[in-house]
Amino acid sequence: MADLDAVVIGAGFAGIYAVHALRSSGLRVRAFEAGGGIGGTWFWNRYPGARCDVESKDYSFSFSPELEQEWSWSERYPAQPEILRYLGHVADRFGLWPDIQLNTRVTRAAWREDAAEWAVTTDDGAVVSARFLISAVGCLSAYQVPSLPGLDQFAGPWYHTARWPAEGVDFTAKRVGLIGTGSTGIQIAPEIAAVAEQLTVFQRTPNFAVPNRNRPWEPEDERAFKSRYRQYRKEARESFLGVPITGTGRPVLDEPPEEVQRTFAERWRAGGGMPFLGAYTDLLTDQAANDVIAEFMRDRIKEIVHDPATAELLCPRTFPVGSKRLCQSDDYYAMYNRPNVRLVDLRSTPLHSVSAGGLSTATAFYELDALVFATGFDAISGALAQIDVRGASGVALAGRWAAGPRAYLGLATPGFPNMFIVTGPGSPSVLSNMALSIEQHVEWIAGCIGYLDAHGYATAEATAAAEDAWMAHVTEVAYSTLFPKADSWYIGANIPGKPRVFTTYVGGVGPYGEKCDQVAAAGYEGFALDGPLAAK
Ligand code: FAD
Ligand code: NAP
Repeated sequence: MADLDAVVIGAGFAGIYAVHALRSSGLRVRAFEAGGGIGGTWFWNRYPGARCDVESKDYSFSFSPELEQEWSWSERYPAQPEILRYLGHVADRFGLWPDIQLNTRVTRAAWREDAAEWAVTTDDGAVVSARFLISAVGCLSAYQVPSLPGLDQFAGPWYHTARWPAEGVDFTAKRVGLIGTGSTGIQIAPEIAAVAEQLTVFQRTPNFAVPNRNRPWEPEDERAFKSRYRQYRKEARESFLGVPITGTGRPVLDEPPEEVQRTFAERWRAGGGMPFLGAYTDLLTDQAANDVIAEFMRDRIKEIVHDPATAELLCPRTFPVGSKRLCQSDDYYAMYNRPNVRLVDLRSTPLHSVSAGGLSTATAFYELDALVFATGFDAISGALAQIDVRGASGVALAGRWAAGPRAYLGLATPGFPNMFIVTGPGSPSVLSNMALSIEQHVEWIAGCIGYLDAHGYATAEATAAAEDAWMAHVTEVAYSTLFPKADSWYIGANIPGKPRVFTTYVGGVGPYGEKCDQVAAAGYEGFALDGPLAAK
């Protein structure tokens, strides 16, 4: 008999809930977490300004009505420390700590065909066996530092935002260089600018950012909202992005231009990315429609940033709005009006090297005391790729995914029986409210394991035909939108040599959930179920 029913890799939102859900089904579970605490994204990304871009009422667990009533969020968009406290509270409240082993990295997981179990090796040399392997390693947890010649010669400290020191960093009176202007760079930049002697932002591609309009969550609003939380959660599950959004329901190209301006201006005043992109039905499918919203946003940048040359450099022109994660900040563009902030355009003068005193581009040298990388992640497949996962006949997952990560419903892949991936490739994951997508996946996985046990099956394995059909559908839907037009991490473009494959399901959280439910109702259609073990 295996040591455990399930090993969970990771203890972020996904791992925490997987431990709770599987344990509640009576399974013996252990989560291994590489970090010294739980929280995943919110444990590692402690950089100043780190904040969720989904509202707190949405970016939270819905599985316990008691939890959602008793926890009180202080702000519309929660900051990193508050989310981390929340996840700690969840672990306390549901007594999860005994089943989470911190400071332990899973290095290898191998399927033992004869015993129908996984052998999981950790970096302390221990091996544990389990019937099921649940990957909760995170879509955005394998951070990447670009290989810059001379970085090891740099005299000052350098940091990646996804490994920010828990004790914080004091940039007072320092000349700081920041590389990266994605969601992270845009959040951290104004915080550094507020204290540093000088901030130099090295920008390769400008990004679109909408205001947050963050504000405290007033107790009366909270009380009123919480009285209909259950109904709201249901609407969220049926929605497109995992957040109920009210759009006009019309294409922007059919709307009178002054009405369009009024609608966008209203949403700009209200803040938030999802309501902005959800304003019209064609913004993410028709380039001409997208041009309308892009022009509106570039006009706002030019309005905010005083220096016309800087404003122009900050105006994105190479990808459709929303085809990269729409950034959110109340202060980013205005920060460029500060005298201690300068912008370096890496398109006209690419990064060259680092030396003891600073950073050189092709045409200039910048003296720096500290360097910050907000350069992103080997997304979706990166963290799993760091584990030597071996399926049936010793086949390596890395090899199976050499042409790009793929999975049936984003949940399971052929040749890897009894392995489930939370928010894996082929699921809505990173293009949704991830807290909700994670819950839906974990519940589906727990349901599947319950079904196997109830019907005497030992194993479930996605079939190649089901995976092929699903990934073909994922691709077809993606290419009916503007998403693949961007050189984004969604398509692997940020990692040199990574295959360019768009692996996120953009058909909507609601329709995706329905499909998962249909598969389950049909006795896990698309999976080969085998067993009982004794009969093998
Ligand atoms: P993670 O939180 O990434 O947790 C995975 C855990 O697995 C990590 O703790 C890691 O240490 C551990 N791990 C990985 N490999 C191993 C191994 N081999 N052995 C042991 N442990 C391992 N999503 C939104 O919906 N809205 C947002 O506003 C939002 N903001 C974000 C901001 C930042 C800065 C980042 C980086 C991501 C953001 N995301 C956001 C996405 C976010 O990652 C998800 O919302 C969610 O937190 C993911 O949870 P997870 O448990 O799946 O993964
Ligand atoms: P990212 O979106 O991948 O941005 C990385 C940035 O680094 C880009 O500007 C990129 O430029 C730049 N870069 C990478 N390598 C470089 C190099 N070699 N030279 C110069 N520039 C380089 O990463 P991220 O900002 O960490 O965000 C990742 C995702 O995490 C987001 O899309 C979002 O889903 C999530 N997130 C959300 C929030 C939030 O608001 N709640 C905050 C942070 C992160 P190019 O664009 O030219 O490649």
